[in-house]
Amino acid sequence: MTYRKDHIAKGTAHNRRPGIAMAATTITIHNTGNPSSTAANERAWLTNPSNNRTASYHIVVDDKEAIECLPLNESAWHAGDGSRAKSGNRTSIGVEICERNYSQSLDNAVKLVAAMLKERGWGIDRLRRHWDWSGKVCPRLMYDSGKWTGWIEFKNRVAAELDGEGDEDKLILSNYQWGVVEDNVKKLLDRKVITDQNWLQKAENRTLTASELAWLTFVIASK
Ligand SMILES: [Zn+2]
Repeated sequence: MTYRKDHIAKGTAHNRRPGIAMAATTITIHNTGNPSSTAANERAWLTNPSNNRTASYHIVVDDKEAIECLPLNESAWHAGDGSRAKSGNRTSIGVEICERNYSQSLDNAVKLVAAMLKERGWGIDRLRRHWDWSGKVCPRLMYDSGKWTGWIEFKNRVAAELDGEGDEDKLILSNYQWGVVEDNVKKLLDRKVITDQNWLQKAENRTLTASELAWLTFVIASK
């Protein structure tokens, strides 16, 4: 994943870069709400003349890159709750996760957010959902009918990355064992014990981690 800065200009239409100084205390996670767009598409939309919304954010991440669209020490319009100086818009860095190739985009988001926390000496208690500010169902792909299992998993993965457990978490299995994992994930999907196809993709690609397998086992045991 590459990280690049492509800030929208001061004076961008619809006040998308208000230039209000911000000393952020949290990071707020969003999904773009657009299943097909890339980070570059989302960045382009911020300066597209047909976009008439006063909405912006700091960083958008997809399966290939992260683009910083606004300086991280300025407010953006991504998490309004009407509380002005205390609102997410005035205190939080907004990170949009693209929904295209979601598994890979999510992997990149975990790495990006962990690096941002580390840089600031922050823990995962500094992470917020858009939902925490305004009650909007966002990041929508982590919502899971209000159970927010995707959000819990995301925070756990960021925590593991922060602890430097990212590499040690690799699942070492024989070909036969991977086959068993794959078969059983298929069965669970068929029986609708789990519904997220990413599990199967991870089993097939052999990128399923020890933490994820533990989580999966826990979910099954508790159903
Ligand atoms: Zn949002």
